[in-house]
Amino acid sequence: MPKILIVEDEPDIAFGLQEDLTRHGYDTFVAVDGDAGVRHGREGAWDVILLDLMLPGRDGFEVCRELRRSRVKTPIIMLTARTQEAEKVLGLELGADDYVTKPFSAAELRARIKAVIRRSAEDSAGVYRFGDCEVDFERGEVRRAGSVVDTTAQEFRLLADRTVYENVALACQISGIWDRAALRERVNPLLDQMGIRGKEKLFPGDLSAGEKQRVALARAMARHPRILIADEPTGNLDPAAAGQIFALLREISSSGTLVAVATHAEEWIRRHPGRVIRLERGILRSDQMEGSAA
Ligand code: CA
Repeated sequence: MPKILIVEDEPDIAFGLQEDLTRHGYDTFVAVDGDAGVRHGREGAWDVILLDLMLPGRDGFEVCRELRRSRVKTPIIMLTARTQEAEKVLGLELGADDYVTKPFSAAELRARIKAVIRRSAEDSAGVYRFGDCEVDFERGEVRRAGSVVDTTAQEFRLLADRTVYENVALACQISGIWDRAALRERVNPLLDQMGIRGKEKLFPGDLSAGEKQRVALARAMARHPRILIADEPTGNLDPAAAGQIFALLREISSSGTLVAVATHAEEWIRRHPGRVIRLERGILRSDQMEGSAA
């Protein structure tokens, strides 16, 4: 039975909430002022805290701030009589998960409670959300607007006992192309595009690091991805080879595949103008167009 802490000083509202939630299968407890809210909020294993804004002693904002400062991660829904947007936003920035404006309907509040409980269960299971996208690390799935996006993870490393041609052809075979002529038709243009035509009979061990990277790109493009995400694609390359790989990625990008590169290589970011999203320890620092075409 989910446990809910109700921090509310108005007896009528507290009683009404308690009655309705108990009837719908929740275990509830009422704290009647801010100090009691902080104390019980810290101590109990609550699934949700309903937190009134106007409270005697510490108000709801202070209670929310204090709980988050004490590393209480329980979802908090603010109950507010004030409708000013700024205050709602402030409430959310303090670490509240949602809010309802009084007077609210019991059904609406229950829907919000269900939603925050579901979200917090999923968050702890490793689901990240942005916009209408969800990345589910538990299931290894990316979903957009609820439908699963087909993704393929692929190492840059090539199969050492297969030739360049076979490495690229393998990706086509996995997507169902087995006919030899059809394979040639698909693989050769990729080798051309990546500038490794003539090397198809060589084995990865015969190639330079830059050439291996080109083969890996050809293999990645064999399945016509709509998005290509390359993680440090130039990490082990000398500057000249790195420049060629960035030029290739640029070409891929202009041919209609969205290319996202994760890199520390500032120099190449400057040389290849585009949208640059800067992260620092997982926190978004900036998101803007950078670099000059010169
Ligand atoms: Ca109140």
